Amino acid sequence: MNDSLLHGVPPPAASHRIADYDHGISAIDAGYLRLGLAAIHLVVEGGQAVLVDTGTCASVASVMGALQAKGLAPEDVAYVCVTHIHLDHAGGAGELMHRLPRAQLVVHPRGARHMADPARLVASARAVYGEAEFARIYGDIRPVDAARILEAPDGLVLELNGRPLRFLDTPGHARHHYCIFDEASRSFFTGDTFGLSYREFDVDGREFVFPTTTPVQFDPAAAHASIDRIMRHDPEHAFLTHYSRIGHLPRHAQAMHELIDAHVDIARGLRDVSGRHAALARGIEELLLQRLAGHGCGLSPEEIRELMDLDVQLNAQGLAHWLDQPAAN
Ligand SMILES: [Zn+2]
Repeated sequence: MNDSLLHGVPPPAASHRIADYDHGISAIDAGYLRLGLAAIHLVVEGGQAVLVDTGTCASVASVMGALQAKGLAPEDVAYVCVTHIHLDHAGGAGELMHRLPRAQLVVHPRGARHMADPARLVASARAVYGEAEFARIYGDIRPVDAARILEAPDGLVLELNGRPLRFLDTPGHARHHYCIFDEASRSFFTGDTFGLSYREFDVDGREFVFPTTTPVQFDPAAAHASIDRIMRHDPEHAFLTHYSRIGHLPRHAQAMHELIDAHVDIARGLRDVSGRHAALARGIEELLLQRLAGHGCGLSPEEIRELMDLDVQLNAQGLAHWLDQPAAN
């Protein structure tokens, strides 16, 4: 599946695309696989900055360009936060930390040692993508000096020039995942916990959100609980890594709960079929195509497949892995 996973995906674009929101929040396009797929968020408060997620090594130039465009020096970045250690979120952390001399890397306690010694992270990604694809997409993963790593236990509050950022442990997509609540903007930086929402699927300002069940730590009960926990803060917006700001959160939380259950139902129904991966992928694709039609999405099935195929394949792999765990039985 490794080649088919990325078949037809255009090479990464190098352009520095930045979208600015209020409260000093911006989204920098990581250029990961295509534009509009992965965002790196920048929050600026009184000349101090925090980055949320890093993209890959290939994204570092875009981040440095964005800082410069905002009149920020590398020394102004206080924190680099990785919502979790999957490489589309944290692959660029080592290289980025090298360029940001005063920054601390903020990471979930379960992910910290893998940032200091990325050997295992690299080995498991190589196994998924193959040596050549891994090198093309992720490049060299540099370790982060352990002395610059700050573990974020549940409830940690960091202040960016007096602006509190609260870290919540939010398993479900991965056990090494936190989300960040920014009281000033009443918004959450949700990584992959609140799902994916590509701007291409927006219809009249309404977004379409769907879950990511990537291997190897998908946990539906935890995913439901993390969404509820986020919603108890009554946030106005969520900033998703894939891709950036969404509103209408009560509606999306409901849709996420339903779609997580629908993924689990599909998986349980296909537990013992032969050709399980293909069947899972077909089931997930049908589900999402049907929901997108109900959403009023005007894209053709081919256009939708092009945007979503990587996620469909990863969701199928993650569900297959979950089915093989005792917890799924
Ligand atoms: Zn991701």
